[in-house]
Amino acid sequence: MRKPVIAGNWKMHKTSAEALAFFRALKAAKETTDVETVICAPFTALPALVEAAKDSGIGIGAQNMHWEEKGAFTGEISPVMLKDLGVQYVILGHSERRSYFAETDETVNKKVHAAFAHDLIPIVCVGETLEEREAGQTKQVVGQQVEKALAGLSSEQVKRVIIAYEPVWAIGSGKASTADDAQEVIGFIRKMVANQYDQQVANEVRVQYGGSVKPDNIGAFLDQPDIDGALVGGASLEPESFDRLVTAS
Ligand code: PGA
Repeated sequence: MRKPVIAGNWKMHKTSAEALAFFRALKAAKETTDVETVICAPFTALPALVEAAKDSGIGIGAQNMHWEEKGAFTGEISPVMLKDLGVQYVILGHSERRSYFAETDETVNKKVHAAFAHDLIPIVCVGETLEEREAGQTKQVVGQQVEKALAGLSSEQVKRVIIAYEPVWAIGSGKASTADDAQEVIGFIRKMVANQYDQQVANEVRVQYGGSVKPDNIGAFLDQPDIDGALVGGASLEPESFDRLVTAS
């Protein structure tokens, strides 16, 4: 059985002090063993959060990283640096990184390999734009993003990847996908993994839905057979709301 993963993506929100205040106020998220909980915070809040989360079941993640271990890459953070902090997860290929910071399927793939080389769990984001959806290209676009992101990984690695299907039009818009539509795409992703690897790998890989997930709609997504949790932006920023996401799962 796949354990659902509820991951908060704080984006560019919260100072260290604000992150600590959030963490102290959490209740259910600290106690649950039914779901895997992760908070993906800005780099600057990671040291404080890793320390605070030490004896809780909550994992801490970054939202991006470079693929090289070190070098002349001004402003970048390497997987070695994240590992050194005690970070366990890293979001890769979020649509905001793809559209504002020129992230490509190729750089995402390099980063996924770098994550495994440094024992970080990648949360790989894929998803179609509204234009692509309306043109009937959703499966083609998402399929290609998944295939390219996972290229060259071993079956054992693919089993440990977390894929987040996030339709671009649903992110931050308040217009979530329907649970049925999300299931259709996520079921397709799982079938693709079965074709490219094998059924056992497909049975183990976890695929989240993301895009305007709230405590009130998360249950409908998790009731679907192929949806293994959620990647949540806006509704992960308040401790009460994060706790409710976890208890509703
Ligand atoms: P949202 O963001 O929950 O605010 O729509 C999701 C995401 O971008 O990961």
